[in-house]
Amino acid sequence: MYYWTNELWRLAYLIVGMGGLGWLIGLPGWGLAAGLALFIAIHIRHLRQLYAWLYQNPHQEPPAGTGVWGDLFDRLYRYQKAQHKAQSRLRDVIRRVQESAEAMRDSVVMLDRRGNLDWWNSAAEHMLGLKSPQDRGQHVTNLLRDPQFITYFEARDYREPLILSSPVRGDLVLQFQLTLFGDDERLILVRDITRLQRLEQMRQDFVANVSHELKTPLTVLVGYLETYSEHAEQLPPRWQRGLQQMQEQTLRMQNLVADLLLLSRLETDHRTRQTAKIELPGLLESIRRDAETLSEGSHTLRIEIEEPRSIAGAEQEIRSAISNLVFNAVRYTAPGSTITLRWHPRRAGAALEVIDDGEGIDAVHIPRLTERFYRVDKGRSTATGGTGLGLAIVKHVLLRHDAHLEIESRLGQGALFRCVFPAARLTQATGDISEESTLIPGSLRRR
Ligand code: ADP
Repeated sequence: MYYWTNELWRLAYLIVGMGGLGWLIGLPGWGLAAGLALFIAIHIRHLRQLYAWLYQNPHQEPPAGTGVWGDLFDRLYRYQKAQHKAQSRLRDVIRRVQESAEAMRDSVVMLDRRGNLDWWNSAAEHMLGLKSPQDRGQHVTNLLRDPQFITYFEARDYREPLILSSPVRGDLVLQFQLTLFGDDERLILVRDITRLQRLEQMRQDFVANVSHELKTPLTVLVGYLETYSEHAEQLPPRWQRGLQQMQEQTLRMQNLVADLLLLSRLETDHRTRQTAKIELPGLLESIRRDAETLSEGSHTLRIEIEEPRSIAGAEQEIRSAISNLVFNAVRYTAPGSTITLRWHPRRAGAALEVIDDGEGIDAVHIPRLTERFYRVDKGRSTATGGTGLGLAIVKHVLLRHDAHLEIESRLGQGALFRCVFPAARLTQATGDISEESTLIPGSLRRR
């Protein structure tokens, strides 16, 4: 404000001074015009100085100006200095981030909003074969061409990481995790999980091998025990009881081995390639009949079907998963309970629910129920003949069908197990039954 008043005074002086001078020589109009022209000339001169300063030497000190121009030059200079400082601070931060990303063993790749490569660290060159600087600006799918990566990249659903082998070093197993940030830009983090994968493979192989090796001796034991039990009346009574217990325990061991083998088979491939059309009404009816046999008529079993579509997948696996849930409902609820099997549409898919009105499960156990051998009441599970692997099998079967399990329960208020299938699994299947499941029949017979 102060400078503007000054400027007005300057105009007033010039007009009055030059006007007065013109009046003295008898040309007041010319005097006024000259005053105004001088005022404009002063401003044009400052404007030229400002222009020259901004376009030629913006980092040097501004030219000296008078009145409002002096203030304007000072303010612009201060603003520019602050901007400069902030910029160099920002550059420093970016440099430090890049240095730390550079030192990381994991690959870091930054993509712009179009999916073009913007920046990456040297681990990315080693793991993914990116070349600096020639690959900058290339679309990521031109360089990472694996169809699985392209589908994952384009789906924009990055909740789960993607596991692939390295495009340049086939012996490396890589885990890709994408994150969206800023203006639709993407950050790709790639971890080398070769060692972890090898350990996991060793664990799976070990369990599968041990289970497999146990199968033959167990079959021999079961065979002999069956033969002896046919002549049990010739044995003393206390031996008869022992024989019966041995039969029960070998049956348990057989079930356990069958479930372990089934789990290890389910684990070897994360996604089922079978796309047979599974008609739910028939399948649910057959499971209901099996459950009624297990319950010996002491439970009420109901089926509610609101979803007309069928599932594309491996029928044996889906049957095994649903049977596990229904048989659990029979085994863990008191006689007289009602069990409902409900197949109904849901937002973006459909769900199969197994609902019972039994004792329910305390909330603390729910997150751990699908872990192997996790039991709420160990004594009770063993008594009911459970292996502790049932819900782990359900979880794996559903994963292989792009589905997931949700569990809702409260103590004393029954339990609800919901298998949620995505819409993609509900489209009409091709009916290719040639790859029918090769799961272990023993395990399915029991459950
Ligand atoms: P198990 O072979 O012991 O049944 P599961 O993995 O099938 O193993 O089940 C894990 C545990 O979850 C069971 O031990 C049981 O305690 C609990 N559970 C499963 N289904 C139900 C149910 N419908 N009601 C109450 N508890 C259940």
